[in-house]
Amino acid sequence: MHTTGYIFDIKKYSINDGPGIRTTIFFKGCPLKCWWCHNPESREPEPEEFHGCLFRWNPDFDPSLKNVVGRRVTTSEVMKEIEKDIPFYQQSKGGATFSGGEPMLQIDFLNSLLKKCKLKDISTAIDTTGYTDYKNFECIYDATDYFLYDLKLMNDDEHIKYTGVSNKNIHDNLRKLTDAGNKVILRIPIIPTITDTAQNLGEMLNFITSLKTVLEIDLLPFHKTADSKYEKMRKENKLPNLKPLNDEEMENIKSKFSKLGYPLKIGG
Ligand code: SF4
Repeated sequence: MHTTGYIFDIKKYSINDGPGIRTTIFFKGCPLKCWWCHNPESREPEPEEFHGCLFRWNPDFDPSLKNVVGRRVTTSEVMKEIEKDIPFYQQSKGGATFSGGEPMLQIDFLNSLLKKCKLKDISTAIDTTGYTDYKNFECIYDATDYFLYDLKLMNDDEHIKYTGVSNKNIHDNLRKLTDAGNKVILRIPIIPTITDTAQNLGEMLNFITSLKTVLEIDLLPFHKTADSKYEKMRKENKLPNLKPLNDEEMENIKSKFSKLGYPLKIGG
């Protein structure tokens, strides 16, 4: 079992990454390349250079690392941070969420952390693109309480164009995961002119209707906060001029999803 892995941040007191108050651990590495990505620092699997200050969690600040995002950590280091907030989890029915990037890319490291949380009776969630071999889901079923699962584009050609990968495996895995009775919170990025089209939302609503064990749907608005990260990392920003939707436009989209009858929120 791997006891080390690469992460790029730890966020405390998170209220948008699953139920209750949570500690979110951001893994490095992602198999997708979404045009709208708000976490470009997550994509490469290993630490990388940036210009300016980006890495927020660094208890043992090392000036020589100030231009690097991401670091190799042990499961013990991560558990130490998670365990500090056990009283908050107990009061709020919260816990730990493993996000990214794609946490399944470091499946042994992830599995080890999930199991350690369970030994301490800490609730667990993973935030996943779903783009992985289904056997990875099977190996973490028992130690995962919630799956925060991204759903982006229903048309496969568009999915390939805007994320770099096919949606087939993602949608198949989601169906299997819900058929097996796992608790799923769907996370849907609402990207103007890309994912918010009538066609895409209509097909998505149909697909969601056919799924079992969906607990909640989170609609994630596009925003501009990642623009400065793209600059600092000298990475291409594919949507520099895209305007976010306003509150009324987001509410209109929310009303379409409300017909499904699931708890629904904007943000997450
Ligand atoms: S799946 Fe998430 S982290 Fe990966 S590229 Fe897309 S938006 Fe970024």
